[in-house]
Amino acid sequence: MVIVMQTGAPETQVEHVIETVTKAGFTAHPIYGVNLTVIAVVGDKTAEHIEAFGTLPGVDHVARIDRPYKLAARRPQVTTTTRIAVGEVVIGGDELCIVAGPCTVESEQGLREVGRGVREAGARILRGGAYKPRTSPYSFQGLREAGLAVLRMAADRLKMPFVTEVMDTRAVELICKYADMLQIGARNMQNFALLSEVGAAGKPVLLKRGMSSTVEDLLMAAEYVMSAGSESIVLCERGIRTFESGTRNTLDLSAVPALKRYSHLPVIVDPSHGTGHAWMVPAMCKAAIAAGADGLMVEVHQCPEEAVSDGQQSLTIEGFARTMAECAPVAAAVGRKLGGPA
Ligand code: PEP
Ligand code: MN
Repeated sequence: MVIVMQTGAPETQVEHVIETVTKAGFTAHPIYGVNLTVIAVVGDKTAEHIEAFGTLPGVDHVARIDRPYKLAARRPQVTTTTRIAVGEVVIGGDELCIVAGPCTVESEQGLREVGRGVREAGARILRGGAYKPRTSPYSFQGLREAGLAVLRMAADRLKMPFVTEVMDTRAVELICKYADMLQIGARNMQNFALLSEVGAAGKPVLLKRGMSSTVEDLLMAAEYVMSAGSESIVLCERGIRTFESGTRNTLDLSAVPALKRYSHLPVIVDPSHGTGHAWMVPAMCKAAIAAGADGLMVEVHQCPEEAVSDGQQSLTIEGFARTMAECAPVAAAVGRKLGGPA
């Protein structure tokens, strides 16, 4: 943190700032320029504490130098991505991790059909919502606990772990009894009580970027989960709201290299919610891999036109298999592997 004094601030004001900063437990290093004095402040306290020094007489502004997240931050000189284990599946290694399945769990038979298809095509983790965040309270809200039981059964038969969304602190305990990985959806990325509760639950977490959140907001949300005790977090870019109305969201693939630069956590991309159109999903899968993503999350339905939710952005099982085949050479070109049938 650096405190920048106003041009021509008298020495008495500089001394007063140094005194106040020192009294608060920091070390102050003044640097005297020709017109301007800046005071470098070093200490192990919260940034908010130092920002308040901006109100001292003679201070122009306070500038932050370090990043506000610590646990989620990439450590200097460490270039590797932290590997996150979900059951026996690893995210963040050489092999890309593909998460696939329906938007919503509708029936055991349907889920099993999709699960078999996506596993055969190279998916490693099954997805499906049992509790759905719907814009309308009149839309289907998910099968809830019955959906969790269906997911567990299908995942066990397929020998794949599954991820499902948790929307409410009151449901964390119940969902933990069934799920291998907990998903925090875009709408809850800044539900701080939920982030903390999920962080303390002891399961790996898939944290999706909020639709109006910056990359730094996402990393601060990860920091919440980590500071509550979890070390197993996977970040997910799923598109942000912009003025573009031709797509459901604007898939911000530049977030991938940004997140990888600032954080050691693995990053996956969800081109289904990121575009809202099934026909765009294959191209954006390839683009995400080329951008350095550690994996993908793709919505797949055995019969998209009959899907209860998000059919328009869901791939068919055959479409998913084709997409994986198209992705393999792109993965190889960037030094990654795409798994075959599990
Ligand atoms: C989902 O993945 O099921 C979902 C609802 O996505 P998002 O939270 O990104 O909208
Ligand atoms: Mn969906």
